[in-house]
Order: sequence, then structure tokens, then C-alpha cells
Amino acid sequence: MNAAAQTSALTTARRIVVKIGSSLLVDAERGSLRRAWLEGLAADVARLKGRGQEVVLVSSGAIALGRRHLKFTDGELRLEEKQAAAAAGMIRLAHAYQETMEPHGITVAQVLLTLDDSENRRRYLNARSTLLTLIGAGAVPLINENDTVATDEIRFGDNDRLAGRVAAMVSADVCVLLSDVDGLYTADPRADAAAKFIDEVDDVTPEIEAMAEGAGSKLGSGGMVTKLIAARAAIAAGCRMAIADGRETHPLKRIEDGGRATWFVPRSNPKAARKLWIAGTLKPEGVLIVDDGALKALKTGKSLLPAGIVRIEGGFRRGDAVLVKTADGREIGRGLSAYSADDARLIKGHKTSEIETLLGYRGRDEMIHRDDLVLSDGGLG
Ligand code: GLU
Repeated sequence: MNAAAQTSALTTARRIVVKIGSSLLVDAERGSLRRAWLEGLAADVARLKGRGQEVVLVSSGAIALGRRHLKFTDGELRLEEKQAAAAAGMIRLAHAYQETMEPHGITVAQVLLTLDDSENRRRYLNARSTLLTLIGAGAVPLINENDTVATDEIRFGDNDRLAGRVAAMVSADVCVLLSDVDGLYTADPRADAAAKFIDEVDDVTPEIEAMAEGAGSKLGSGGMVTKLIAARAAIAAGCRMAIADGRETHPLKRIEDGGRATWFVPRSNPKAARKLWIAGTLKPEGVLIVDDGALKALKTGKSLLPAGIVRIEGGFRRGDAVLVKTADGREIGRGLSAYSADDARLIKGHKTSEIETLLGYRGRDEMIHRDDLVLSDGGLG
């Protein structure tokens, strides 16, 4: 892929995750916010939004911004000091984003996630649907790790990996990691004058990993190794990922104008990758048997509603994979159930409008949303 095609990936993507490293946002010496830079980013985000593109921000900087307010000024902080600094810094970070985005008519919504939220299925689904609801409402989610509760063994520790997970979680088309490194080289360019820049990577091989070792920056915690972990998560989810230098005032404009970046190119797209995951990776925990009306609706690309379900087998939980079958036992597809087996038994055969009365809460309208459903007869698209 040439530079023009890479550039157009950013201008044509529907959903874009942008990761902002601490070193861009926070002045290392003074621990203060680099407001002019943030204003440039806000203008970039407003331009993307103006084109109808959806943007999710994953921002570091809470610890770097918060530490001086707690007078934690000396060198490397202990874990609990970092967690405390994040608490003091996050409130300032979120405020700064809100202040700079609001003049562009953009609503920023803070979401703090832990590693567990991206690994535990039900929490993953909750996080995913909150993010999709925010995006659908036109807001820009501002995500950071929930540093105050995430302890050493269970934390991401760096937002590169968090950004890769978020990109997969929201089925983003493009993920851009902005930091003070401009991409991947064949060797560390600070140590080896013969190091060559790599424009494009289509597989994170051990050879590529070897190139990443040792490269990194001071202020944030992510180096090139964590960026490759992010790339692996992103491309497996069908998302194109860029590592780019964010130091200029309009870092996204720079990429749109053909500025250099290392692009990781996926083999599939987010929709197909998600459907493959549902069809191929997850073990079905139960069966939904549907009537002819539902079968017809599914074939025209509609979601599966409770009204079309005649019987439920198995003991699945919300978010588990289930098989969808006809009354004569033919498998017609598989998908993620929006309700547990117990709740599904209560609402089967009923209208969506009755769900709240039957269950005492208002869940999803569909039993399986069409984005979470894969039909057996080649319905991968
Ligand atoms: N979550 C940390 C913060 O906001 C930063 C993690 C990283 O360096 O990427 O300060």
C-alpha cells in the first residue's frame, strides 16, 4: 500500500481510535498541560467529526499531570503514589479535554477501564455497549485506565495495549497511536545510524518483534514492544493501526497530509473479523429454537427478536454464544445472546415492548442483535 492509500485510511475510516501519549500532553519539566497542543488535537478531532467520522480517544497523562499537585516530585513513583497521582490528574485531564472540545460542539465522556473490563465477557459487553451508545449519541469517549483501582498484576500499565483492546472492542477501522516516536525501525535509530524506517507491516512476526526491543520514550510507560502488542490486537480485529509522531500541533492533519507513520495492515475488516470470532472461537452454551417467521427475518439480515423464539435449551449467561436452530433441528446460525437462558425463557414468544414488565428491567430489544449473529449459509458479511 502506498502513502496515499495509507493517508486515505484515516480520511475514509468510519470509526477511529486515537491514543495520546503522556509526553505529548504534559510538559515533562513542569508537569503542566500543553494546552496549545491539545487545542490543535481538538481542531483535528472536530474536522474528523465534521466529515461524519466517529472518534474515540484513549489518553494517558493522568499520572504525569497529577503528581505535582500531590508534591510527588522526585523521580520514579511507587505504585500507590502513581495511583494517587492518577486520581489527582484524571479530573484535570478530563476537564482539559472537555474545555478544548466544547467550543467545537463536541461532548466528551470519560470512561475509565481496567484490564478485567476487557477480559471478563460480561464486563466487556457492558463496556462495549456503553461506548457504542456514547458514539451513537455523537459523543467522543475519553478513555483511560482506571489507575486508582488497577493494581500491579491486573493492570494494563500502558495505554498502548488499552488502545488496541478498545479498537477491537468498538470495531474501529483505524487506530492511531500518537507519541514521541515516529514509527518502527529495523533497529533503534538512536543507537544505529543504519536503522531503516518501516512504512508498513502486515504481520507481527518474531523478526518484527526483535526490531522493537529497546525503543521507547521517557514520560509514558509504553515503548515499542507494547505498541506491537496493541498492533496485534488491532489487526486481529480487522483494524488498521498506525504508530505516528504526535508532537506537531495538528498530529492527525499531519498524517492526513501524508506524514510518515508505520501502518499495520489487517487481512480482514472489523465486521468480518468479529463474525469470524463469533462463528469460530466461541463455544456455544445453549440453543435458541426459532419459528418460521423469525427464520425469514434472519435471512433478510434482521435481528432475532424474543417473539420469534419457541424454545430454549441449555444454561447460558448473557453474552454467551448460542446456536440458533429451526424446530426440526437444523442449525441456521450462531450468535451472542443478549439475555441469560433464564431470562430468555421468560420473554420467549413475547413482544419486545413486554420485556420490561416480564423481567423488571429494560434490556436490549433483540435476543441476538444482527451484528452479533452469523448465519450458517455463508452469512459472514
Ligand atoms: N494511565 C496512565 C496515565 O494516564 C498512563 C499509562 C501510559 O503511560 O500509557 O497517566
